[in-house]
Amino acid sequence: MLHVFGHTNPDTDAISAALVYASLLRRQGVEAQAFRLGHLNFETEFVLKELGVEAPPMLPELPAGTAVALVDHNESAQSVSNLAELSVKRVVDHHKLGDLTTANPPYLRFEPVGCTGTLLLKLHREANLDVPVQDAKLLLSAILSDTLHFRSPTTTQDDREAVEFLAPIAGIQDVEQYALAMFAAKSDLGDTPAETLFRMDYKVFPFGDPAKPQEWGLGVIETTNPAYVFGRQAELLAAMDTVKAEDGLSGVLLSVVDILNETNRTFILSATEEKVMQEAFGVRTQGQVADLGHRISRKKQIVPVLEKYFSPDA
Ligand code: MN
Ligand code: MN
Repeated sequence: MLHVFGHTNPDTDAISAALVYASLLRRQGVEAQAFRLGHLNFETEFVLKELGVEAPPMLPELPAGTAVALVDHNESAQSVSNLAELSVKRVVDHHKLGDLTTANPPYLRFEPVGCTGTLLLKLHREANLDVPVQDAKLLLSAILSDTLHFRSPTTTQDDREAVEFLAPIAGIQDVEQYALAMFAAKSDLGDTPAETLFRMDYKVFPFGDPAKPQEWGLGVIETTNPAYVFGRQAELLAAMDTVKAEDGLSGVLLSVVDILNETNRTFILSATEEKVMQEAFGVRTQGQVADLGHRISRKKQIVPVLEKYFSPDA
């Protein structure tokens, strides 16, 4: 049986892609089941509740050699801890390549589109398979989530066309209204502990010399209510300090992305992060906040800049 899962600290794409890819593989005669690598965020909870879909179960500890399919990620730092011992059969992803290696030739589908959901729609169409209503809703939600309903610079024409194709199948007439409801759910953070908030959409990236990389933890809070997040700045900085020590990181950043105004103000923990923000991005910092302007995509506008900055041949 193929275990299908997305990255740790899962987002709507990581969950939806696992569910839909497992369902597509089963229709194609492959025994497959979807799993998740962590708690659902508030947006994903909202989406699954709207759809009446059960969350995939947590991935159990897998013995060495277990066959797995990765969706919405490929780097070991964002995956199950014993990934190197598992047998990766398939990857469907829209991120940069990381450190993945396999013993046998895998099936790989990578395209620089805004969402794994867009690729999964393509796989259905290429196989001449219709998209079931529930799967259409999951894919549509994932694309709206990853692209912030086309606000993100990661958005491609393929993502727009996918939403246009899926909306009637999903029975969603007002896509903008549905997207806003998703973002409102995502922003309704209540009294979530600061460390949980920081880790909700958090990824670790190795930078610099691959033989001796330094690891940075990059968190993002996409919200329609940035004032709420800034109201908890002191607590969040304390949580970042804890995580930095716990995970043995060289640096931590937390980007507060204002979805509606498409701006990014990033919390910086110490002089180390401040120096990197100033030198890598050429931006001003004030207090413990760097103003990153309209750089709202970690994948497209933050990580590549840091990769270049730390590159040994830069
Ligand atoms: Mn994701
Ligand atoms: Mn994604």
